[in-house]
Amino acid sequence: MNPASTPEPSAPRRRTRVVVVGAGPAGLTVANILRAASVDCVVLETETREFIEQRPRAGFIEEWAVRALEQRGLADRLLAHAQTHSECEFRWAGERHRFSYGELSGNRHFVYPQPLLVTDLVHAYADRAGGDIRFGIRDVELHGIDTDRPSVSYTDPATGERTRVDCDAIAGCDGARGVTRTYLGERATVARHDYGIGWLALLAEAPPSSDCVVFGIHPRGFAAHMARSPEVTRYYLECPPGDDPENWPHERVWSELRARLAVAGAPPLTEGRLIEKRVLDMHNYVVEPMSRGRLYLAGDAAHLAAPIAAKGMNLALHDALFLGDALVAYCGSGNDSDLSGYSEACLPRVWQYEEFSQWLSELLHGTSSGDPFKAGIAGARLRRILRSPAAAAAFAEIYIGTGAGS
Ligand code: FAD
Repeated sequence: MNPASTPEPSAPRRRTRVVVVGAGPAGLTVANILRAASVDCVVLETETREFIEQRPRAGFIEEWAVRALEQRGLADRLLAHAQTHSECEFRWAGERHRFSYGELSGNRHFVYPQPLLVTDLVHAYADRAGGDIRFGIRDVELHGIDTDRPSVSYTDPATGERTRVDCDAIAGCDGARGVTRTYLGERATVARHDYGIGWLALLAEAPPSSDCVVFGIHPRGFAAHMARSPEVTRYYLECPPGDDPENWPHERVWSELRARLAVAGAPPLTEGRLIEKRVLDMHNYVVEPMSRGRLYLAGDAAHLAAPIAAKGMNLALHDALFLGDALVAYCGSGNDSDLSGYSEACLPRVWQYEEFSQWLSELLHGTSSGDPFKAGIAGARLRRILRSPAAAAAFAEIYIGTGAGS
């Protein structure tokens, strides 16, 4: 763990109200909210703009999050271009089971690839609102976070010089591999869970083969199909954790997808070139509290939810929407009541989504676990949501993120 207050460097100094570390969905949402309220801020990002606008990841945004972005004028292109999904399909024991969570919850998913959302948010902040964002910066360090005058130093890519920005608060939005989390120190607890499962995450240059998310529950291993755009589809294949993507040549991927997603009456998969192939080891963590002094973590910096239930980006947006407003209140009138309650406000939804990811993981992976007891539990769980209206409604509610407690 880094110390909370490293010695302050003698670097060129400037001042702003909030430094946002990381330009993912969380950081860019916070920055847009600050900018719209005329609160001075700087966003620091290690990658280039081109890189973050193309980095493929999430694709499903829950309706409450879309509406919140819409209210802030950040969803015009999303609403114009995203498809919506309100059903998913479970394929199990050779049969297809359609599940209409939209009908049960009154809410939908918006299918909008994360790079498009990031592109929109960068455009709104930097081009439309003239916000300050520094790409390609290196070696971020935080200073004085336990005081009301913290600062952030970094290496400027153009000059190679250390630069220091004094501020009133720091938003740590630098994702799972960032540095801001390490400044929380010993007082923070990190709860971790390792599923012991890997997913081969694939992007195929192929149109979707179904009009909804397909969960393939199969003794050979779980498989999933998720639309991304009319031209690109995401697929997942359960694999051993730490597996080498090179073990999965084109032919093996498609034959395994065909086998695990096969059911009577389903159209054949539309195959295409694989443009992304990486192994994700499924694990989660939650940091509590999500803040220390004047450092506030948001999104994957504070909690990771393996993509089992497509929750990570939605949680990042939930944190960022709350944090952005709380920072505006603090910087505007000095009122820090929302900031001081930030962790307590966000953690209930975080834990609801973590619990759901764990529950869904057991349903999706039990059949392939090799353990007949786990397989039996998975089958019982699935039958229950397919047959019991009360269980179906409860599943629909948490799957789409309504009633998750915030
Ligand atoms: P990030 O998007 O990781 O952004 C953090 C930013 O900080 C990055 O731009 C990074 O370059 C930058 N950074 C890192 N270190 C530093 C540093 N030291 N200094 C400055 N900047 C730094 N979620 C869903 O909700 N639905 C889905 O369908 C879904 N599918 C997924 C599929 C895959 C394959 C993966 C990997 C993830 C998926 N997720 C999904 C999760 C989702 O992508 C993340 O939860 C989301 O990106 C979190 O946003 P964030 O802003 O917190 O972090």
